[in-house]
Order: sequence, then C-alpha cells, then structure tokens
Amino acid sequence: MNEHLAINLMGLGAGPSAPDIYDAVIIGGGPGGLTAGIYLARSGYKAVIVEKIAAGGQIFITSEVENYPGIERISGPELSIAMENQAKKFGVAFEFDEAINIEDGPDKLKTVTLSAGKHIKGRSVIISTGAKYKNLGVPGEELFRGKGVSNCATCDGAFYKGLEVAVIGGGDTAIEEGDYLTRFASKVHIIHRRQEFRACRIAVDRAKKNPKINFILDTVVEEISGKTLLEKLKLNNIKTGVKSELSVSGVFIFVGMAPNTGFLKGIVEMDPTGYIKADMDMKTSRPGMFACGDCIQKKLRQVVTAAGDGAVASESASEHIESLKI
Ligand SMILES: Cc1cc2nc3c(=O)[nH]c(=O)nc-3n(C[C@H](O)[C@H](O)[C@H](O)COP(=O)(O)OP(=O)(O)OC[C@H]3O[C@@H](n4cnc5c(N)ncnc54)[C@H](O)[C@@H]3O)c2cc1C
Repeated sequence: MNEHLAINLMGLGAGPSAPDIYDAVIIGGGPGGLTAGIYLARSGYKAVIVEKIAAGGQIFITSEVENYPGIERISGPELSIAMENQAKKFGVAFEFDEAINIEDGPDKLKTVTLSAGKHIKGRSVIISTGAKYKNLGVPGEELFRGKGVSNCATCDGAFYKGLEVAVIGGGDTAIEEGDYLTRFASKVHIIHRRQEFRACRIAVDRAKKNPKINFILDTVVEEISGKTLLEKLKLNNIKTGVKSELSVSGVFIFVGMAPNTGFLKGIVEMDPTGYIKADMDMKTSRPGMFACGDCIQKKLRQVVTAAGDGAVASESASEHIESLKI
C-alpha cells in the first residue's frame, strides 16, 4: 500500500482534516497544477485546484499536441479534459474563481483568498498559474480584438474558412498554429521580425512545404486597421525600411508569453520579468509555498515540463505537510 494512503487510513493524513482545510491548495488548473493534484490526491492528500477560467490552461486553447510521450497526436481540449477527469477521479476538488492573495497564518496554515471573497485554508500552496500572451502593442490591436485579432487558432480558426489570415511570431506556437490554420484559411501569411525561427526545425520544415503558407520575414506589423472588422495590416520591413499593406481578415498573434504572477508581488521571490524563482524541488522563497510549470524561471515551457514540475512540487508539498504533523 502507498505510504501516504496508509497514513490517511490510520487517521493521520487527509481524512481527519477539518472540512475546509486542505493539505494543498493548488492555484491554476493547467497541466502543472493538474499533475500536482493527481499525484497528491492519489497519495491520499486532500487537494483543491483553484482555476479562474478552465481546466487545461493553455492546452485548452491549443489545436494539437504531438510531443507528449505516449500520445502521438491529441487535440488540446481532449488532453485538457482527460487530465481534468483523471484529477477528479482521484478526488481533487475544483474551485472556479481567481486567487488574489496568499497569507501565512499563525496556525502554520496558509489562506488563499479568492476574488469573490472566499478564503481557502491549506497546509501548503502550489502556485501553477502559467502564462498568458504578450500583446503586440500596436494601434488597432485592442480595437479589433474579437473582430479579427485573436490569440487562439483552435477557438477562432474555423471563422476564417476560405479567407486569408496572418500569424505573427517565429516560435513553435506561431509556426504550428499557422500550419493548423491552413485547414480553414485559403492563405496563411507568417510574419516574423527575423530570418531565423525559434521554432523547432521539424515544424518550420513542415510549414515551408505547406503551399498555403507564405513567409514574410524581417518584417513587423505597425498597425491593424479596418472598418467594423479587421481588413489590413501595415507592415514595415526592418531591413529595407519598405512599408507595405497586407489585406487579411484575421491576425493571430503569438509573440511570447508573460507569467500570471502579478498578485504574488511581495509574497514569493520573482525575477525582474515576473517569473517565480523556484529551486529544483519547486520550493519558492516562502516555506510551504511551491511553484511549478510556465510561471517559474526555467528554460523550456511545455506540457511535459509543466507536468514534470507538478509531480516534483507535489512531492515537496507532501514532505512539508508531513513535517507539520511532527
Ligand atoms: C497555442 C499554444 C500551443 C501550444 N502547443 C504546445 C505543444 O504542442 N506542446 C507542448 O508541450 N506545449 C505547448 N504549449 C505550451 C503549453 O500549453 C504550456 O507549456 C503548458 O500549458 C503550461 O502549463 P501550466 O500548468 O504551467 O500553465 P497554463 O497552462 O498556463 O495553466 C495555468 C492556469 O492557471 C490559471 N490561473 C492563472 N492565474 C490564476 C489565478 N490567479 N487564480 C486561479 N487560476 C489562475 C489559468 O487560467 C490557467 O488555466 C502551447 C501553448 C499554446 C498557448
């Protein structure tokens, strides 16, 4: 029998907790938080995931994942639902709201405050709030959001059947989502400010072979315009200085991510860009608070690394929970 499950059955673990005290409060229900929840609940701990939008996180808005070991290809929403169901099967509770604060209490418990005013108490906290898209910051971007400007090919791609669209960015997401958009669009223009791509070679090679993809390199978008719906992008070739216009019905912006850590200022140590500093055991600067996934300082932000971090964070959280019982 699993050690933690045995402790639980003996009346020392999750079972006898007061109804509203969790062993772990996990903030964020993406792959990192869901993995931490699965590991903790499967070990007999009482865990709750606080999620402000939808379980699955970024993966929920991803068209396809084909680099998670053991699964050749799966749609993002399918993988999200599978992870959420697995967490629920092991007894993870879900609270759909935004966490806005974490406080240490005199009773060694931590209190997570939600935007609706509810307080959730836990012996440990795992922060797995992930990251969100950076804006391009050009005129028209906000005006045409939802009227041609999007950050989600899975959500909005089908609206552009037979139409021309642009994708901005040169990383994995831009190239892979650009490729996906050719299922609907008659042409996909990938606009990138450099010649070289950050995306992996296999994705770039596949996109280069796709007759529906046109690359516009060394180029930045300076303005997004139209009447009621998006119609045009103003482009600037930063090598030649030549300015031009591109007529498209939609633009998908994938120019990097920023961590969802604004509410953690002064609570855990972060780098100047807002990524949480966590050690290899996913411990933050605050005892009993752990962090995992895309919100931490690290080299590679992917489903597999978020899941790996989540598993490590769960182990460190369980050591902390046990130490409180001594
Ligand atoms: C379009 C796209 C395509 C991608 N394709 C791939 C791919 O093919 N393969 C791959 O491995 N990776 C891919 N990724 C990256 C991958 O999705 C991320 O690395 C992974 O989802 C990170 O997981 P996470 O749990 O750390 O964070 P996220 O997935 O970002 O989840 C964080 C969750 O926390 C929630 N949250 C944030 N703040 C709060 C708060 N204060 N209170 C409550 N909830 C909060 C968010 O709503 C979100 O659900 C892709 C990403 C995108 C956007």
